[in-house]
Amino acid sequence: MSTQEFKQAPHKLLVIPGPIEVTDEVLYANAHPSVSHVSAEFVPVFGDSVRMTRDVVFSKTAQPFLISGSGTLGWDQISANLVEPGENALVLNTGYFGDSFSDCLRTYGANVDEIKADFGATVDVAEVEKALQSKKYKIVTVTHVDTSTAVLSDPRPIIAAVRKVSPETLVVLDGVCSVASEEIRMDEWGLDVIMTASQKGLGAPPGLSIVLVSERAIKVFETRKGPVSAYYASWKRWLPIMKAYESGSAAYFATPPVNLIYAYHQSLLQLTKANLSLEERFKLHAEASGRVKAAAAELGLKQVPVDPSAAANGMTALYCPAGVKSSQIASLFMKRGVVIAGGLGSQKDTYFRIGHLGITAVEKSRGDVDRIIQVLKEVVAEATGKSA
Ligand SMILES: *Cc1c(COP(=O)(O)O)cnc(C)c1O
Repeated sequence: MSTQEFKQAPHKLLVIPGPIEVTDEVLYANAHPSVSHVSAEFVPVFGDSVRMTRDVVFSKTAQPFLISGSGTLGWDQISANLVEPGENALVLNTGYFGDSFSDCLRTYGANVDEIKADFGATVDVAEVEKALQSKKYKIVTVTHVDTSTAVLSDPRPIIAAVRKVSPETLVVLDGVCSVASEEIRMDEWGLDVIMTASQKGLGAPPGLSIVLVSERAIKVFETRKGPVSAYYASWKRWLPIMKAYESGSAAYFATPPVNLIYAYHQSLLQLTKANLSLEERFKLHAEASGRVKAAAAELGLKQVPVDPSAAANGMTALYCPAGVKSSQIASLFMKRGVVIAGGLGSQKDTYFRIGHLGITAVEKSRGDVDRIIQVLKEVVAEATGKSA
């Protein structure tokens, strides 16, 4: 079978905020026959994937790490390699994923302070400045889109505050739910680290932890006082591997997920080399998002993000109609062949989440957004006992 003949099986429309719907080409690439991870055939596929990963965040100089694992491994990589035990980390917490980042940092011995936003709100930059003045932080972390709330935090004012008050502090972006759906200009904005994963906006199957590290942050890593207290997650082991593949040879530390790299490579080709530019893709995400959010508002559903300008473009989080639980909403969607997500964290029953990432937002001919809106109308009507 060739890639032109391959079509994925009919299935329910998956519109949770990751994993997402992927193209037939990506799935076909995943079905690549077995090849050696150190073969001449595979090396350029890995090398190009490293280079194209940079392109997605408009970086020329960052060091990408592509390592088997889910997005969560990014927290481990950052905590183990950039923060030494006893050093301070400041977590700007806009939901569930901020809690997890803090947890992970503490696991590796960091002293973690959090600035916790109210549910659905962003962190106040003035508070960040105040915290930065109070002590020396090794890193500040920002969750670009907290997938639990759909809150979008602009990292730029935070980077500006850090540069002004504490220029040596590294700024880390958790971009797991934002890379490829929200604009991120790593070099221009001065981000030190971006962590993401394969299965959300990047449009590949789950299983790859993707981390980009600025030259400045690599220097911080290289001048650590103590050794890294992780084995698999240590950049000391992975840095030579990433450099080898990029320069056209292979090196071995642990077996890369060969087939997933083929799939990710195909997805990157579609993201960075297709006739649609990244900028156009961001616009299409904003457009899809605008349509879903407008339809929800028309139905009287309130968004979780309190400030409409601080809501994600790749997903929507909506409070349930009064007296309805998110599990009911999800099963009514499911009945109609559409898979959405409930809430996450302590308020999980009160709201639900719809993803409109990747081809669902960008390939209008699929009609995914139309279908989401139509089904949302039907579901709200059924849940509230009105006819659609
Ligand atoms: C999904 C997600 C993670 C965790 O990624 P996994 O692949 O589930 O391990 C971390 N941060 C954010 C913002 C996410 O959306």
